[in-house]
Amino acid sequence: MSKILLVEDDLALKKTLKVFLERQNFAVEAIETGEEALFRLETEHYDVIILDWGLPDMTGLDICEKYRNRNGMTPILMLTGKNQATDKARGLDSGADDYLTKPFENVELTARIRALLRRQPVVKPTVLAMGNVQLDSVNGVMLIDNRKCSLYPKEFALLEFLLKNPNHAFPAEVLLERVWSTESEVTPDSIRAYITKIRKKLDAEKASIQISTRKGFGYTLELMS
Ligand code: CA
Repeated sequence: MSKILLVEDDLALKKTLKVFLERQNFAVEAIETGEEALFRLETEHYDVIILDWGLPDMTGLDICEKYRNRNGMTPILMLTGKNQATDKARGLDSGADDYLTKPFENVELTARIRALLRRQPVVKPTVLAMGNVQLDSVNGVMLIDNRKCSLYPKEFALLEFLLKNPNHAFPAEVLLERVWSTESEVTPDSIRAYITKIRKKLDAEKASIQISTRKGFGYTLELMS
């Protein structure tokens, strides 16, 4: 699941975009100020940053410059008002990767985000596999012995993370932090519930991998012995 930092001080727009993007299976952290943005960018990893040009404490341009000066590599999509459209060249100089002029269609926003994600230099494998289980991240499909098996987006994200880090134990709190956005309302208890659901599905389809619980360490994805 790709993680997006959305910096937008228009509260209504912020809320609408967050809800919309989460429905598109992105993990979204939405904040309102430049200061908070710079702090988060120092402490968290994001796959795409959506940055409003006009913020109460600084401009999107300032954030862009500061972030790039610190060698921040994450693609940046800048949201601009009509009156700022002529300044686009300045924005590109500051290190933004793309622009969207308000008002825009949500589908246009998704298209731009996907383009930026594709542009990322890190080559990620599209299919993760272990035992007889394959996870196709691009299409969001799990295959067990080549049979399609449905997972809800959050279950998929959780299993995807564990498949990327097999044989390693993660407490529910850590999974919460690594798989969901930090402001998510999901609790460690919901993680436990998701794990139970995934286990049932793996079991029902006779998967050769399992999520086991290592007491005191957390959940581990491993081959069945
Ligand atoms: Ca604004």
